[in-house]
Amino acid sequence: MIDLTGKVALVTGGTGGIGSAICKRLAEAGARIVTTYRNRDKAVAWAAEQEFEPLLIACDVGSYEDCVRMREELEAKGLPVDIVVNNAGITRDATFKKITPEHWRQVISSDLDSVFNVSHQFVTQMTERGWGRVINIASVNGQKGCFGQTNYCAAKAGMHGFTMALALEVARKGVTVNTVSPGYIATDMVMAVREEVREQIIAQIPVGRLGRPDEIAGLVTFLSSDDAGFITGANLAANGGQHMH
Ligand code: NDP
Repeated sequence: MIDLTGKVALVTGGTGGIGSAICKRLAEAGARIVTTYRNRDKAVAWAAEQEFEPLLIACDVGSYEDCVRMREELEAKGLPVDIVVNNAGITRDATFKKITPEHWRQVISSDLDSVFNVSHQFVTQMTERGWGRVINIASVNGQKGCFGQTNYCAAKAGMHGFTMALALEVARKGVTVNTVSPGYIATDMVMAVREEVREQIIAQIPVGRLGRPDEIAGLVTFLSSDDAGFITGANLAANGGQHMH
């Protein structure tokens, strides 16, 4: 039984498909949940459906200034962050010929700059307290590449470079830093794909099905626990066997 009672967990993009499941699992383990939002109405409606009481903070994680404000708001509330889950992310798919600088910047901002912007607010305090967890949600496509996703694959591969370097810097201070690389997960985004395309995707997954958000959440919760204290700088694949290395 994982016990995170007394810990504060910040899950970026907690209102999304995978983020929701992560918030729920961490809350079940006893953590106090904080999540970011950009769309207030969506976030308030989401919070009302949860069985725990998340603290919602307006923050574009691609903006360093927003992340500073978020830290100040949490400090003012006396909530030190023990667990950061960098989960917020977007896609703007286009082949390299058609990709625009805007598509590139949007994805790098939300998916990679965000990891620095958010982690930079909280990691030093974690090292001073002698305990912390940073968990970066990347993607199988950051490990193997994907047609039409130069921006997304660059950002997701970059996340793991960040993971390894930061893991080295904080390893002796009780803070672990890991990447989780999900394969195709049955979120609204993937379920919105045409059924025949989805069937083609599933045919490439040895386990024979899409992953469940809860399966990513279970892994994140384990990485947040004391039992995972010897795991750091790792890139944990949860992709049904679609990509092995
Ligand atoms: P969703 O689209 O359901 O959720 C994404 C969340 O991120 C939303 O809450 C969104 O908020 C938030 N977000 C995006 N950009 C920003 C930003 N700049 N600032 C603040 N919040 C932001 O996605 P998923 O749950 O499917 O994916 C979650 C993570 O998992 C992503 O990083 C994704 O790349 C990764 N992943 C997903 C896979 C899948 O199959 N679904 C596979 C592999 C990886 P808002 O609605 O306000 O924009």
